[in-house]
Amino acid sequence: MRSVALAAVAVAMLMACGADASNPAPDARTSAPSNPPSNALTPAPSDTPPAPGTAAPLVPLAPAQSGVPLRFDSARAWEHLRRQVAFGPRPSGSAALAECRRYILTELKAAGIDAREQAFDAMTPAGVIKMINVIATIPGRRPDRIVLATHYDTKRFREFAFVGASDGASSTAAALELGRVLRAGPREYTVELLFLDGEEAVNTEWRDPDNTYGSKYYVRAARQAGTLAGLKALILLDMVGDRNLDIRRDTNSTRWLTDLVWSSAARLGYSSTFIDEAFAVEDDHLPFLEAGVAAVDIIDLDYPEWHTAQDDLDHVSARSLQTVGEVVLDALPRIEAQLGAATPR
Ligand SMILES: [Zn+2]
Repeated sequence: MRSVALAAVAVAMLMACGADASNPAPDARTSAPSNPPSNALTPAPSDTPPAPGTAAPLVPLAPAQSGVPLRFDSARAWEHLRRQVAFGPRPSGSAALAECRRYILTELKAAGIDAREQAFDAMTPAGVIKMINVIATIPGRRPDRIVLATHYDTKRFREFAFVGASDGASSTAAALELGRVLRAGPREYTVELLFLDGEEAVNTEWRDPDNTYGSKYYVRAARQAGTLAGLKALILLDMVGDRNLDIRRDTNSTRWLTDLVWSSAARLGYSSTFIDEAFAVEDDHLPFLEAGVAAVDIIDLDYPEWHTAQDDLDHVSARSLQTVGEVVLDALPRIEAQLGAATPR
């Protein structure tokens, strides 16, 4: 994703993406990582992942004890994150991303959630790349659906091994754990978990149309299939693993949905994490917004390790996943109530 300068929010935006005043172009950060390249993964001090490329076990996480009330379990989410990172760099079309996808499908199945693959050919600057979205459905009383989306690909870098602990793995981990919790409760709206391929630009620079391949394809396919009208709201999670989590309000997102998520955070005591400052970001929610779907992007771009070799296990935390998980779980029934009450704009 990329943050975009808008005159009114430029100052907040610069703070949000960590750019300093001498380097006002946020895009500059995507082309030249300031940290020295490294060819090695940085293992967590206490928990060394298998070497990239070696097959991580696809045995699903053990089921939680029965009788224990279901809540977001950051230990489970952390394990999902760690296992993705262990696959190594996971750019679109790679064998590692296929392994990661198999992991996602295995975990969804273990949670009793039906999922399907949505394959398509993406025309990229590097030629045609086969991409695959994963669409999982948790049925509600109504067929109308709220989509909880994440991208699971990681950006390709030739210069260093980019494992995307926050940028790719964190939001995917949170979505998997949210799915397990949501599957257990009766739901009013159908919840769709959407694991998007191809969010990242294939080239180093984020330049349209070289980005958000999976979300663009999903929206186009849904429109053709006549299922777009049943999509009532989109919650996009992206880069939610930062140890120093600070999430700002994206001004491209739908106002009422953003307000609602931020008020959930406030009532849970997370106002210092969900900060009342604005910036603008281009991400997988844009194709949905352009199609008229209410959407909110929950993203922490104030992450110095963004698109560097240091986006690794040392710079993310289970606590951050827990915070975001709890906020989404609090916000969901309130979004459902709002959708049921009226069709806000
Ligand atoms: Zn990225």
